[in-house]
Amino acid sequence: SALQRVAGALRAGLRRASGGLPTAQRGLLPGLVIGDTSRVPSTLADDFRTAGLTHLTAVSGANLAIVTGFVLLLGRNVGVRGRALPLLAAVAMVGFVVLARPQPSVVRAAAMGAVALSALASGRRRRSLAALGVTVVVLLLLDPWLSRSYGFVLSVLATGALVLLAPRWARAWQERGLPAPLAQALAVPLAAQLVCAPVVAMLSGQVSLVAVPANLLVAPVIAPATVLGVMATVASSVHQPTATALAWLAGAFVWWVVVVARWAAGLPWAATAWPASLSGALLLTMVTAAAVLLVRHLARRPAQAGAVAVVLVVAVAVPVSRPGWPPRDWAMAACDVGQGDALVLAAGDHRAVVVDAGPDPALVDRCLDGLGVTEVVAVVLTHLHADHVEGLPGVLRRRVVGEVQVGLYDEPSEELDRVRGWTAAAGVPLTRAAVGDRARTGPVSWEVVWPDRVIRAGSLPNNASTVLLVRAGAVRVLLTGDVEPEAQRALVASGRLQPVDVLKVAHHGSRYQAPELLSHVRPQIALVSVGQDNDYGHPAKATLSALRTTGALLGRTDRDGTLVVAGHGRSLRLVTAGR
Ligand SMILES: [Zn+2]
Repeated sequence: SALQRVAGALRAGLRRASGGLPTAQRGLLPGLVIGDTSRVPSTLADDFRTAGLTHLTAVSGANLAIVTGFVLLLGRNVGVRGRALPLLAAVAMVGFVVLARPQPSVVRAAAMGAVALSALASGRRRRSLAALGVTVVVLLLLDPWLSRSYGFVLSVLATGALVLLAPRWARAWQERGLPAPLAQALAVPLAAQLVCAPVVAMLSGQVSLVAVPANLLVAPVIAPATVLGVMATVASSVHQPTATALAWLAGAFVWWVVVVARWAAGLPWAATAWPASLSGALLLTMVTAAAVLLVRHLARRPAQAGAVAVVLVVAVAVPVSRPGWPPRDWAMAACDVGQGDALVLAAGDHRAVVVDAGPDPALVDRCLDGLGVTEVVAVVLTHLHADHVEGLPGVLRRRVVGEVQVGLYDEPSEELDRVRGWTAAAGVPLTRAAVGDRARTGPVSWEVVWPDRVIRAGSLPNNASTVLLVRAGAVRVLLTGDVEPEAQRALVASGRLQPVDVLKVAHHGSRYQAPELLSHVRPQIALVSVGQDNDYGHPAKATLSALRTTGALLGRTDRDGTLVVAGHGRSLRLVTAGR
C-alpha cells in the first residue's frame, strides 16, 4: 500500500542518515528506534543478551510510550489543548506502528504502550489496571494463542509493574530527595526487571546478574536516543543533512548503551544458570520478594542504605529481558505443529532451512517467528501428505524463501497441485530433490540419501519420503520423513547412512520402525514430532521403549512443545519450549 511504501522509504531514510556512524551505533540505532536489527553486529547482539538488554532492540510498549509522550509534550508546547491532545496521541501511535511495520507483535506493543502511557499520565492506578485487564482480555479473544506466548506474558507483566509498582516507588524515592525525573527513570526499569525475572528464568534457564544495573545505567539515554532517532527518520524525507545531524546526536546516546552492554557482558558473573522450571520461577519470585521486603526494612536505617543497594544488585539478581529463546547456539528445531512434521535447521542470522511445513500455516509461522527466522533458504517437503505440506503458506508468509523442493513421487497429486499454486503465488521456484543431491548454505549442509527407488509396500508416499543426512553446524542429523520399515531397511543396506547426533524419528513415532535403523545411526537425541491425542496412536509404546533402551534423550512435541537442539559435542542439549 501507499502507506507501507512511505514507511519503507522512511526506514531506508533512517538507515541512510545513520550510515556514517561507527559500526556499533549504526547497527543499533534502527534497532532502538523501530526494532530493525538487521545491521546489529552479532558480537554486540550477544553482549546485549548477556547484559539483559535485548528487549531494547525489539519494538515494545516503551518505544511507543516514549514517542507518543514526546509528541504530546511538543503539542502542548505549541498550544494544542483539550480534546485535540488524545487525537494527537492517536495519530502519533498509528504513525509509529506503520513505521515499525504493523505486525501483530507491534500492534500488541502499541496496546500495552497506550496502557502504560495513560497510567503515567493520569496517575490513577485503579483505572490503569482496569485498562490493562481489558486490553489483555481483548487481545486474548482476538488471538487465544497469545496465552502460550512468553513474549506476551512478559509484556503484560512489564506493563503491570509499570502501572502498579513503578509510580509508588518513584514517589517514595522522590520523598526521600531523589529528583523526580531520575526517580522515574530508575523505578520503571527496576520494577519491570524484577517482575519479569522469574518468567525469563523459566524460559532461558539463566538469570542475568547484570541486567538490573545495566538497565538502570542505560535508562536515562533511551528516551533521547529514541526521540532523536524518530526525528532523524522523519527528517530524512525532507532534508538529508538535518537527518544525518540528528542521527549523530542520537548516536552519542547510543554510544553509551554500547559501552554499558560491553562492560556488563564482560563481567565474569554476568549470566548464572537457574532451574528452567516452574519451581525455579517460583523460587526466584520468593527470593525477589524477600529481598524487596528486606530492602524496605533496611531503608529506614540510612546507614545501611549503601549495603541495601549491594544486596539488591547481587542477591536479588535478576533478569530479564532476555527472552532467551531460542538458545543462541541452537542448531535445529522440531516445531510444535500438532500431528505433523516441521523441522528447522539454523543457517545463521535469521536464516534457516525448513524440512516439512506441518499441517497448519499459523502454527509453523508462529514457530519460525519464535526462532527469529525471516529468510528460508530452502523448504524441503519430504512427501506430499497433508501433515507435512499444508502449512507451507505459513512458511512463505512474510519471508524471503529461496526455493521449495518436492520429491520424485507425485502422489497424492491434489496436494502437489496445491503446493504448485502456493509457490507460484509467492513467486518461489518449485524444484525436485533427488537421491545424491548435496547442498550447503552457511553452517548447514545436507545430502539426499533416499529414495533411490519406489518401494511397493506399506504406504507408497511414506516410503518415498525424501530422507536427509544433515550437518547443522557441528551437529549431525538424520531427517527421515515418514519412511516405513521397508524403506528404512533399504536405506541402511544402501550404505549411505552414518551415525548421527540427532534422529528425527520416522513417521511420528509410529510402531512401524526397523530396529536396524536405530542401531545403525545411534542417536544421542531422538525427536518425535507428534500431536497430542492424535487418532493414529502415535507415538507407539513399542517405539518409545525401543528408543529408551538406546539411552537416547527423547523429545516429544506433544508433551514438550517445540524442541530445540543446541550446542554440539559434549554441550549438545535438548531444550524445550514447554506447552
Ligand atoms: Zn506424516
